[in-house]
Amino acid sequence: MTSIPILREREGQIYQKGREPFKMSCGKHSLAGSVSQRACVFCGSRVVLYPIADALHLIHGPIGCAAYTWDIRGALSSGPTLHRYSFSTDLREKDVIFGGEKKLYSALCQLIDAHQPKAAFVYSTCIVGIIGDDVEAVCKKVAKEKGIPVLPVHSEGFKGTKKDGYQAACDALFKLVGEGPTEAVSPCSINILGEFNIGGEAWMIRDYYKRMGVEVVSVMTGDGRVDDVRRSHGAALNVVQCSGAMTFLAEMMKERFGTPYIRVSYFGLEDQSKALYDVAAHFSDHPEIMAKTREIVREEISAVYPELQRIKPDLEGKRAAIYVGGAFKAFSLIKALRYLGMDVVLAGSQTGNEADYEMLRDMCDDGTVILDDANPLELSKYIIEKKADLFIGGVKERPIAFKMGIGFCDHNHERKIPLAGYEGMLNFAREVHATVTSPVWKFAPKAVIS
Ligand code: SF4
Repeated sequence: MTSIPILREREGQIYQKGREPFKMSCGKHSLAGSVSQRACVFCGSRVVLYPIADALHLIHGPIGCAAYTWDIRGALSSGPTLHRYSFSTDLREKDVIFGGEKKLYSALCQLIDAHQPKAAFVYSTCIVGIIGDDVEAVCKKVAKEKGIPVLPVHSEGFKGTKKDGYQAACDALFKLVGEGPTEAVSPCSINILGEFNIGGEAWMIRDYYKRMGVEVVSVMTGDGRVDDVRRSHGAALNVVQCSGAMTFLAEMMKERFGTPYIRVSYFGLEDQSKALYDVAAHFSDHPEIMAKTREIVREEISAVYPELQRIKPDLEGKRAAIYVGGAFKAFSLIKALRYLGMDVVLAGSQTGNEADYEMLRDMCDDGTVILDDANPLELSKYIIEKKADLFIGGVKERPIAFKMGIGFCDHNHERKIPLAGYEGMLNFAREVHATVTSPVWKFAPKAVIS
């Protein structure tokens, strides 16, 4: 046991299965001083919109905000790479006193002339909310002058949680939806929502659907294109992964255009197969799609199964801690780790809601710690107490794992290999195996805090 204390105000956001009646507090602003792992509103909006590769992304604020989110999703593009730049208006003291609108106008005009983007997103950060620049008016003026959509993203960091950033991103995207032609769109067509193509996953998933005979109109926002988003209302179905980020947009499209949506996950053999079957079932008046899907699932699983079986015995009984953005990803990770024979001893999320945590409780074994909006001390405490061998998280969790002397798997923005789809499950198993069984941990002192 550790003597690391828990902040009293955070006790309602920590639950240990089997010990106490379930009553999880979530969806709150982070506790001041707790050094939350959670990202700000601006970061939430930036991670969603960043992979739109032919759009200009201009951050209106001090340079630090732009540095914070530069290349935050290493989203791959099959064409333009404008998204890889991190443009900023670099607001200074003088701008804070006299306002930053002129600077914003000038930066937008110069950047649009230089890069000829299909659209521009302008992200408001904390200081813009405080000084009160009329970003909307500047965007309107530039849109009129330059003839492209210039979309304000109302993402002042202090305004709420990362999830409010998702909402701000969806609000901005929704202004593009419905603007493009849809005559050529197939009746068996979908949009993929919440797949960000970090390691090329969007290409693999697109390919599965193509082989099934389903047209993908747009991927929002992996390897994204403005024109695809504009015609996305022509698709027959929205298929939502990363529900925390994109359900807002799916709901708006359902209301305005009547597009139904389903939730899926592409992580793990079970969830990936279910995603394909669920889409095929939606097009039940085309039975050839389901027949093709069965064939694809059989082929893909047969290709990865033998190596997965070879990896599994080494991982049997090892313990994993998971701390990710959305709870939906945690569900898939629990299933994938169980498939590999591992036990999940900690599961947490930055943006889960009550229903998500109830689902987590139902999925987890007795003794598993479930955390909402955690901080480094809490994560360290439970990693030590639960004797985890592996930590799965993102960029901010990596140093915690290494300081604790345990293996780490990046399941977030910084990784370079696809972890979704069938091939992705094999990559995931290989990575988990390599890190958990690495001899390096013999030389790392095991963290004991007393
Ligand atoms: S919290 Fe505010 S200042 Fe910090 S990165 Fe986010 S928007 Fe910028």
